[in-house]
Amino acid sequence: MPFMKQRVQRQDAKSRRTLVTLAIETSCDDTCVAVLEKHPSGGATLHFNGKVTSDSRQFGGVHPAVAVAGHTQHLAPLVQTAIAHIPPHLSKPDFVAVTRGPGMGQNLAAGLNTAKGLAVAWGVPLLGVNHMQAHALTPRLVTALAAGHSQQAHHSPSPAFPFLSLLVSGGHTMLVLSESLASHRILVPNLSGLAIGDMLDKTARLLVPQATLDALPNTMYAAALEPFAFPPSSSSSPPPTYTPPATRRDEIAPLPVRDHNGELITTLTPPLSSSRRLAYDFAGLGTQISRLLTSTPTLPLASRRALAEATMRLAFEHLATRILLCLAGEAGPATSQKLDEARTLVVSGGVARNKFLRTVLRSMLDSRGYGEGRMEIVAPPGELCTDNAAMIAWTGMEMWEAGWRTGLDVMALRKWPVDPDVEGGILGVEGWVKRDGV
Ligand code: AMP
Ligand code: ZN
Repeated sequence: MPFMKQRVQRQDAKSRRTLVTLAIETSCDDTCVAVLEKHPSGGATLHFNGKVTSDSRQFGGVHPAVAVAGHTQHLAPLVQTAIAHIPPHLSKPDFVAVTRGPGMGQNLAAGLNTAKGLAVAWGVPLLGVNHMQAHALTPRLVTALAAGHSQQAHHSPSPAFPFLSLLVSGGHTMLVLSESLASHRILVPNLSGLAIGDMLDKTARLLVPQATLDALPNTMYAAALEPFAFPPSSSSSPPPTYTPPATRRDEIAPLPVRDHNGELITTLTPPLSSSRRLAYDFAGLGTQISRLLTSTPTLPLASRRALAEATMRLAFEHLATRILLCLAGEAGPATSQKLDEARTLVVSGGVARNKFLRTVLRSMLDSRGYGEGRMEIVAPPGELCTDNAAMIAWTGMEMWEAGWRTGLDVMALRKWPVDPDVEGGILGVEGWVKRDGV
């Protein structure tokens, strides 16, 4: 079979050469462009990773029209700068990667149309990326970047599948079991439309002094919650005294919140404390705080600090309890083997920047028999945790190497599940094209 042999050899040669992509992300209010090179060794170099976030502070959160205007304003100049960072020995990238969904329709279209234009002008393929898959694969990008250009040894992407991902952002809260490149099963979905980042943002606006919020560079108000609860001058920063609830019974017990004098401020009920349902729900916790602030608008600063700590504590313990329930087999027999094999918990999304979250997760896993040797917790660096185009470039790279590209006639997808059991998941949408010979 001389023909087949020839084809295999050509494919082999292809996989041994460097790959470069230019990637665009515009699913929400960040306009992002990146240039990523993947070396034959498996390592990667990020030549450019730019981002402009539209200023929607006056609206107190993301404003879709402002965000679209921001993409229209910033995307082309950012692409121009990115192109200048394509390695000089190349005239163009091998393909253009872009977020196709999920996200806001008009926002996605802004990036998708620019990406299509670039792909057509350069005469290179397009690769439409699932934003949530990109968040899940980010830790593999991180290890590839750490391996860099080293030729010494071949770098295999790590963490290897299967691994667990906790996606905690302004739009999402979910626990995902990543079984393979395109199979990410949602073990714990979010019940209400309120994501953990959203709830923490709202809570921060109620508790943190206005002057502190005004000094923030963007509307990520939740970022102010941790330094507010544990001010740098305080002896508990980050709190060395965090003790995880010893048992499930302690986990679901109402939490008395006291000020620094030991005076009871309120008692908070942990989320979904009356059920073992595999779901996240942050609406109830947020409501408890807003009701309290409505009835007592002049709470002293120390009480507000205690409430900020308690809110984070209960929200983060809620995240941990569902992880523990899944590890204990409550996600059902279909996933139990993969869960037994999983050795890594990836925490990603903007809320993963929170150090107290990592303290709570590590302590709770340790205290229930899932120490570092059984379940390592990794969190991509902050700038890769929030929306960025580097993760889109990396996911494009992995999908490209698996043999995929995207048709030029595809539409943006406001909804696009990552779970193969939901409408076929990542590969279940129209527009995928298998590349020849791969
Ligand atoms: P993303 O949607 O992934 O861009 O993440 C944005 C969300 O993460 C917003 O709700 C932010 O307020 C939140 N966030 C950013 N930094 C922190 C932090 N240090 N602690 C808690 N939440 C944060
Ligand atoms: Zn995101």
